This record gives sequence, structure tokens and C-alpha cells, in this order.
Amino acid sequence: MKFISFLIVLIIFPLTVSGGEKLTGTPIGTVRGLQYTNNGSSSYVVNNIQKNAFDGDLNTYFATDARSYTWVGLDLGKPHVIDRVGWSPRNDGVGPKRVQLGVIQGANQSDWLDAVPLYMITEEGVIGEMSYADIDVKRGFRYIRYVGPSDARCNIAELEFYGYEGEGDTETPNLYQFTNLPTVCINTVNAEEPYDKEHDITSNIIIVNNHEAYVDKPGTVRERGNYSRTFPKKPWRIKFDKKQRVLPDAPAQAKKWTLINNYGDKTLMRNLIAFEIARRMDMKYVPYAHPVDVILNGEFKGCYQLCDQVEVKEGRLDITEMEPTDISGEALTGGYFLEIDAYANQEPDGEWFTSATKSIPVTIKSPDDGGTPEQYEYIRAYFNKLESLVFRYPNYNPGPYDYRNIFDVESFLKHFAVGELSGNTDTYWSTYMYKDRGSDIIYTGPVWDFDIAFDNDFRTYPINNIPGYLYCSGRASEATNMINFAKRILMADTRTVDDLARVWSLARNDNNLNYETLSAFIDKTADEIDASQKLNFLRWPIMDQIVHNNPVVSGSYEAELNRVKDFLKNRFPRLDTLMKYDSTISAVETPSDDEATITPVIEGNTVHLIDYAPFDLYTIDGKMVQKNVTCTAPLASGVYILRTSGAAAKLSITPSQK
Ligand code: CA
Repeated sequence: MKFISFLIVLIIFPLTVSGGEKLTGTPIGTVRGLQYTNNGSSSYVVNNIQKNAFDGDLNTYFATDARSYTWVGLDLGKPHVIDRVGWSPRNDGVGPKRVQLGVIQGANQSDWLDAVPLYMITEEGVIGEMSYADIDVKRGFRYIRYVGPSDARCNIAELEFYGYEGEGDTETPNLYQFTNLPTVCINTVNAEEPYDKEHDITSNIIIVNNHEAYVDKPGTVRERGNYSRTFPKKPWRIKFDKKQRVLPDAPAQAKKWTLINNYGDKTLMRNLIAFEIARRMDMKYVPYAHPVDVILNGEFKGCYQLCDQVEVKEGRLDITEMEPTDISGEALTGGYFLEIDAYANQEPDGEWFTSATKSIPVTIKSPDDGGTPEQYEYIRAYFNKLESLVFRYPNYNPGPYDYRNIFDVESFLKHFAVGELSGNTDTYWSTYMYKDRGSDIIYTGPVWDFDIAFDNDFRTYPINNIPGYLYCSGRASEATNMINFAKRILMADTRTVDDLARVWSLARNDNNLNYETLSAFIDKTADEIDASQKLNFLRWPIMDQIVHNNPVVSGSYEAELNRVKDFLKNRFPRLDTLMKYDSTISAVETPSDDEATITPVIEGNTVHLIDYAPFDLYTIDGKMVQKNVTCTAPLASGVYILRTSGAAAKLSITPSQK
């Protein structure tokens, strides 16, 4: 018997005293409460029932009249580190389900603008029982609350918070993340929900990365996007008051960032795959994108992509930013950032135009507000000039009337190839172009918006059954006459056949653009977002539903990924035929016969020789990159020539995801 008692002590001891003491405070919460009647069919509003969640009685409960962004908690009077939380659901049929995705938050401001999550309940509750979870956050909070999930009326019978007084470890607070991904916390003033694209809601935005607040800054949030705004999971644009890097690997310091919702894209990664393709196409600028979890005013919103706002800026589309004073001479020549845009007519007057002969709608994204009248007229006339030359069939020859004098075919073809490989119905529904200062050339890019690509659009599904290219199949979408614009370049200009073969083959041969690398990228990304995608589809249980333009239901996350992989596997041979893939085309000059071949060691994006002998590194067109080094500094992706005494090698640094 003594032995058994000893065992019980051992087992019970840590459960009872490992945490801090049970905390008491002033009950606070959503004011407009709700009391269900005995038959459950009717209800009436009452106030001051927050205390029901802290009365130790599992038969009394807190409930609210509103269905979302509702909460109940304690004002502890002073900061406390919370190390344990307990909860029990409302004691009837719907109660257990209504705590799933409920979030525990802590704050030190009564307006909750500094709130961070401490825990999220992922299981259903049990009637008549408390459930408990340990909390590892080391920061102290005066205010602690439970925020009910969406459409759950914050039904909760009982809450218990354990911990100890103190501000905790403010240096390394060990903040909570929903998953391995960074957690983006948006706290708006008065918990106002963003409701349109025009009104910026004042906010504080906290981005938790590696369990630290990498960002904790004031800003605003509003909805963004067009069709994607109509989904229950909303896309947002956040704007910081001051320029801000959002995560350590983000290239730009910028105010504006986007949170892409990927509602109809059940892989949650179609944009990421397309951006990977664009990097392997060596496009000048590929938008930054990083998967994250998002919480708005305490309510978990799921897996998003934290992305660049596509704009003219260092670290983004890096061309000259125009000032309102740039109205003559070379200053007037750029930089301009344009979008051939089927939604252009929704923009304010003076920020868009239709082209002179084919009525192609063009939005001026930069300079802001369509620029000054001089700037607006300059770029409108310039685009009209390009259009008139492109449609000047059949004079596609070098000379004064060659559209190629003012249009970069290479970037156009790279953009085109990304659109065809990804099977993007919307390649010419929205197409970005730009013109820099002092340059005569209009370029195409960046690529953007792939949620209906990779066979995710009933209008074009299954794409690989369509003979020829997708864009001219009669089933792709376009901003007025943009497909004809593309057809002129791709079909009517006979020079383009060779150009396209070269652009496509270079990416295939030199940059490992192939099924195997993309399949590996998909697997790697799936591993990275696995925990997040599971929570996402708990929040948005649509895996078995047709949403947006979904052509089919695959039934599981893995099956959705496999559908993308199968599409790509069949897409490559199709495009190899159409684009006249040539395995001999390479930009890399093979080291000459009198140079011995050596094998460099590539580690990540640095290079050294096996014996750390010194060498020089060149780009493929012969420019010195690093001279007389034994190991390079981190290199941009691309193909390089390494030369050391009497020996040479070509090598390829492949892009990493971030
Ligand atoms: Ca109670």
C-alpha cells in the first residue's frame, strides 16, 4: 500500500502544483449577452453575465448576442504570467463544438491593441468537464480573455487561468504561434472589422516569428482584391505607418503588404509554385511571398500568404519612382508601372485609360493616382505607340516601325511561359508592364495571382486536353483585345518562334525548370505548411465543396496537391512541343577543351573548391562576380563560370524558396 501511495503522489504532484495559482480578477467581456431559455428555441438579451464564466459552476455560462469577435475574460489588475488555462463548454448540444478554434489572448492595454494569442483550442469541449492546456508564453499580461470562434456566440461555461504576478521575461517572452509558420496578429481599434477596399481601419499589427514579436507596429488594414473579396475568408492589405520589413527574409522595407487568402486554392500554394516557376524563368522581379497564420481581433482566420504589395520600390519593382515634379525631359520618361487590367474601369478617372485603337484597358499603378496630367498623357501616348506598332501587321522586321524597338520580347515571353506552364486562365486578364526612366523599352512583369491556375478553373479544365496554347483557346479570359495583342507577338511575328524556344529552353536547361524540381518544391512547401493547412480547413471546412472556380473536388489536401503535380507532369511535354524545346540551347559556355574540368562544392548559395583553393567567379556573359576568393559570399540564383589556374567549371545556383 505504501508503494501505491508513493506512485500516486508521484503522478499527482506535477499536475497539481506545477503551474501557478488560480487567478482571480474582475470579469470583463462583450457587454451584450445572451441567455438561452429552457427549450432552447428562444433567447433574450441580458447584461453582466461575464461572471458566469468564473463562478466555478459548469451549469452557468457566458454567451453573447453577436456571433463573432465576442469574448470574456479577466482584468487581473496587474500583469501576470499565465502558465495554464482551463475551459468548459456551454452545457448543451452545441456547446462542445463552439469552443473549437476559440483563442486565449493576453494584453496590457484595455483596448486590446497589443493583444497576442496564448493558446488556441483545436478540439471540441466536453460538457461537464474542464479541459486544460499548459501555456509557455513568458510575458506578463494584465488582461486575459477567451475569444469565441466565428459564429459561436462565445458560448463558454467556465474559464480558469493559472499563473503568477509579474511582467515576465520581456527580453525573450517566448510568444505563441499557431503553427511553425509566423503568426500575423491584426488588432483593430474597437475591433472594427475591415469592410471594403477604401476605408483603412486603424490597427496594431504584430508578427510573431521564432516566438518573438518581429513586428509590433501601428498601421491600418482594409480589404483588397476583386473577386477574392467575395469569399468568407477575406484578403487584406496591411499598411504600416512607417516602412517595415515584415519578416527577416523579406527583401523590401515597405509600408504596404498583402495577405492573400487562397480561398479557392485548396493547395494554399498555387501562387508560391508560380513564383518558383517565375524565378526559374529568371524574371527580373518575383513578388515576395511567405505562408503565415492570421488572427484578426482574436479570431483565427487560417493560412494566408504574406506578400509584397506589387509596386515600384527598392526590393520590389525597382525602377525610378516618379515625383509630381517629373514633368519634362528625361524625368518624364519613367518609371511607369502599368496593369493591363480588365477591372480598369473600376479605378478613379485619371488613373486608367483605354488604348487608342483596340480599347485595351490600362491602369496606371505608378506614379500614384495616375500621375500628373503630363505623366498621364506621356505614358498613354507611349502605350498607344506600342499598340499601333504591334498591330502594324505584317511589317515585323527590324526598322523604324518594329515594335521591338520599344518592347522587350524576352520578358513578355517569360511572363507568357509562366502563364502557360501554370495554366493560368487569367494571364491576359491582368498583365503588368513597366517602363523605366531613360529607357525606351516597355517590359512585362511581374507575374501575379495564380489561384485559378494549375487546373483550378472549370472554364478551362482540363487544360491539357486543350490543343495548343491555353491563352488562345477561346476559353481564357482577357482584358479587351489583350489576347490579340499577344497573338500578334506570338503568332504573327515569325521571329518569336526562335525567341520562345530560346527562353523556354534556357529555363529548362540552365535553371532546372522541370517536373522533378517543381514536384520537390511542392513537397517541401507542403511539409512547411502542413500544420497550418490542417487548421485552415478546420476553420474553413470546404475540402468537399466546389468553391470559386473549382472544376472538381479532390477530397483531401494530398489529393489536391497530386492534382497539381499530375497537371505539371503532363504540361511539360506539351509545352516542350509547342515551344520547340531544344536541349542544346544553353547560355553557359562550356569550358574550352584546354581547360581542365573541376567540380566545385555548392553549399546553399555559396561555392568553394574541395581544397579551398582560390578562384574567380564570372557570370555567364563574362562579368567578374567575385575575384580571388576561397569561398564565395552568398550568390544570387543563376549560372556562373568558375575559373582557377588552368581549370574551369560551370555551375548553377538554384533559387531557394525565400
Ligand atoms: Ca459557470
